[in-house]
Amino acid sequence: MSDLSAFQPVPDALTGPFWDGARGGRLILARCPRCRAWQHPPLEMCRACAVPLQPEAAPLWGVVYSGTVMRHPAVPLYPTPYTVVIVEVGGVGGPRIVTRVVGTDGDVAPGTRVDIAMRPLPGGDFMVPVALVSTREEVR
Ligand SMILES: [Zn+2]
Repeated sequence: MSDLSAFQPVPDALTGPFWDGARGGRLILARCPRCRAWQHPPLEMCRACAVPLQPEAAPLWGVVYSGTVMRHPAVPLYPTPYTVVIVEVGGVGGPRIVTRVVGTDGDVAPGTRVDIAMRPLPGGDFMVPVALVSTREEVR
């Protein structure tokens, strides 16, 4: 396998809680303690309140906002084809994360409910969130 060291994250003060949480099976995103808005990727301050954001565990499910099937190897981490989706965490309107789908390499329709789990990132010791297609009905 090729050298995947260039594809490993470099955690810092803002992103460290996300990577530490993923290692423990949790999805940790930045959230405003005042207005409760989520911010992902994390920022130092809330865009609305200008108060420091804090890491908080987000729900481990979501709804697909959009997606695509990767047929060309943009990165050497996963064999093609694989499916990438934008998930609204915790339901429609929730914070959006981009993640790979496990369980299918075909299209996943917007509105599909997915569960979020952590899987190893190839080439290192990091875990990353993935979307598992849920057996539950679509929500929109
Ligand atoms: Zn705020």
